[in-house]
Amino acid sequence: MDLAGAALDDGLPSDRLLRVTVAQWSAALVWAAADGTIVGANPWFAQLAARPLESLIGRPLPALLDLGGRDWSAVWDGAHGGRAPPGIGTLCAPRSEPVPVDLHWQTLTDGSEPLLLCEMRSFDERERAEAVARLQQDVLELVATGRSLRLVLDFLCRQVETCAPELACSVMLRDDENRMRVIAGPSLPAGYSAAIDGLEIGPGVGCCGSAMWRGEAVLATDIANDPLWAGYSDSALMHGLAACWSNPIKGRDARVLGSFALYYHEPRGIAPFHRRLVEACVHLCALAIEHDRARAEINRLAYFDTLTGLPNRQLLTDRATAALALAGRTRQPVTLMFLDIDRFKTINDSLGHAVGDELLVEVATRLKRLFIDGDTLARLGGDEFVALLPGCDAAHASLLAERILATLAVPATIADLTLTPTASIGIAVHPDDGGDFDTLLRQADAAMYRAKQAGRNRCHFFRRDMNEQAVRRLEMEAALREALSRQEEASRTGGDGPFELHYQPQVRLKPPCLHRVEALIRWTHPRWGMVSPVEFVPLAEECGLIDRLDSWVLETAVAQLARWRAAGVPVPGMAVNVSAVRFARGDLPDQVHAVLTANGIPATDLTLEITERLMMTEEVGVHDALDALHALGVTLSIDDFGTGYSSLSYLKRFPVGELKIDRSFVKELDIDAANRPLVRAMIQIGESLGLTVVAEGVERDTQHRMLEAEGCGIGQGYLFARPMPADALAVWLAAEGKVWTDCGPGCCFSI
Ligand code: C2E
Ligand code: MG
Ligand code: MG
Repeated sequence: MDLAGAALDDGLPSDRLLRVTVAQWSAALVWAAADGTIVGANPWFAQLAARPLESLIGRPLPALLDLGGRDWSAVWDGAHGGRAPPGIGTLCAPRSEPVPVDLHWQTLTDGSEPLLLCEMRSFDERERAEAVARLQQDVLELVATGRSLRLVLDFLCRQVETCAPELACSVMLRDDENRMRVIAGPSLPAGYSAAIDGLEIGPGVGCCGSAMWRGEAVLATDIANDPLWAGYSDSALMHGLAACWSNPIKGRDARVLGSFALYYHEPRGIAPFHRRLVEACVHLCALAIEHDRARAEINRLAYFDTLTGLPNRQLLTDRATAALALAGRTRQPVTLMFLDIDRFKTINDSLGHAVGDELLVEVATRLKRLFIDGDTLARLGGDEFVALLPGCDAAHASLLAERILATLAVPATIADLTLTPTASIGIAVHPDDGGDFDTLLRQADAAMYRAKQAGRNRCHFFRRDMNEQAVRRLEMEAALREALSRQEEASRTGGDGPFELHYQPQVRLKPPCLHRVEALIRWTHPRWGMVSPVEFVPLAEECGLIDRLDSWVLETAVAQLARWRAAGVPVPGMAVNVSAVRFARGDLPDQVHAVLTANGIPATDLTLEITERLMMTEEVGVHDALDALHALGVTLSIDDFGTGYSSLSYLKRFPVGELKIDRSFVKELDIDAANRPLVRAMIQIGESLGLTVVAEGVERDTQHRMLEAEGCGIGQGYLFARPMPADALAVWLAAEGKVWTDCGPGCCFSI
């Protein structure tokens, strides 16, 4: 297309006519390509932009023309989709004030590359008034189309700043605690916005705080010397704000909703045009804020229960549908818990609805505290509550149900009566009990009904096997709690408790010698016999007992090491498993230091086995604890390496000294050829990072030989020795284990 004014050739009379038309057109014209490059312009445009016409060709138009908050691609797409409403922009001219301009867009296509023609006119005061009218219309349109309040007010500020580029404006809201909250201020410096956000509204709090306090406009022509700004002026002046005019925004009932403020970069008063802008904008802001509040109220009425403030059935259905769709992709469980207050009808009928309502509010308040972000607790109506728990499996659900029953069972005083609310709970878990919300709700309801039949104040799973598991879990939690207390008591009095530590040797493969022993906890229950740590350690983590359990293990294992050494049993070092949960409490390094010192064991003889899961955490406290333990001289070993986290970058970031290849890889090493390259790769990772590598679960000689051939340093497994009590280990070392303590000078531990 050769309409480019600068490039029009002499040609046919009609071409010349066209050229003259373009050159003498009463408005500035500029043509741009899809990427915003100027391909042509007329002399008016050059004059407005205060640059030679030739120098403009090839430059990006968006660099010269501020589109008042819109970006170029949106304008281009809008125009080509037949929707490029006229707007206001600002043309930047070198060495002079930016020029506010009216913009009209026209697409041009003749079969070759499409162009966008922009016709622009600078506007005078009268035209500015028209711009204000247009601004009002644009803002109202945004409000009507349901855009967020923040977006509407941000747009409003940007449009005002386009009409009057000499100022910056902001909108502040008054919150429930009578503080001011910056909701829009696109060109206010971020540091300044942060400084004023949250200030309490009061008589001498800058222009905005004072305007909201008094309910009338407040002007400071010179912030530096204005008494209202005493205490606040530094931050404004530092950010180049020298004068301010703030106007309260009032609702229909004359209550102050917020403020609309204009800031100037030099001390000055208000121009008449600014007055007109503010009159229009204060009204628009009030309208947008009230519209937003009305919408929120409608939303509240449609989606929330008015008595308890909890989500209602509609919102629960929406959230459950979304959670189940997501769970289908992520394969996460979703639990639905149906809770019905026991004998609520009797309370309602005998004590009246007002008491019933109060009880419902009390129950809702107690329940709310038990759920975490992401859970939804809804009231379906009457005395029925439903909790939607994404990511929660049956085991967690049973613990939570237990907590709910305990929380409800505390007596409440309602209307001078003491009532003890109890409830029956039914639980259904996706995907086992149903794929869609209606089915799950029905199953949870049925389970709740069975809980009622079974005597109320209890929880029932939809499936029988889950009930059995849940009961065992609850029993085990109680037993674990009691066992731990007895153990702690036994440690104080020097007796035996239900827990014991067994020790399993870790041996150096070449030349053979004892490397250290790993302490492994054992629990003997009077009825269940030996309970595996695989079962009770995760339970201890979930019910908050792991700190106590791991502390006991650490103290006992280190004391045992000291006892062996005192008795001349040559055990070179001790490895202790520490749960990731234990790291969350910041005192681990202090405890380790204290235990080592108390027993006279050097930190280098202690290894803490941690899982890869711990490395995933971003918690600063955990990183600090790892660093502190490393600084003490303790070795950190990654247990079950290869089963947890897919990224290995943590190996660089954390002071890890050892990798323990998980049993599952060693198990099939001599059976399934595919395992060998994996084990080789893990050994090489360890080697290249200078880490010790331990292989767990070595049961056969063939595995031993393969590991040795691949260069693995240390082995642990039944082939060498099973975990055994402390006395047995001393016997083993003295007899069978002799070979492991007789491996030549400089290798073995000696005492
Ligand atoms: P882990 O730390 O990976 O411990 C190694 C597990 O493998 C031990 O099981 C050990 O008995 C077993 N094992 C050792 N050699 C062989 C073998 O050749 N073949 C087979 N099949 N198994 C072998 P255990 O003692 O049942 O412990 C299981 C897990 O429980 C431990 O895995 C550890 O994660 C946890 N655990 C044990 N004691 C403690 C403790 O004191 N604190 C914490 N937090 N966790 C512990
Ligand atoms: Mg371990
Ligand atoms: Mg392991």
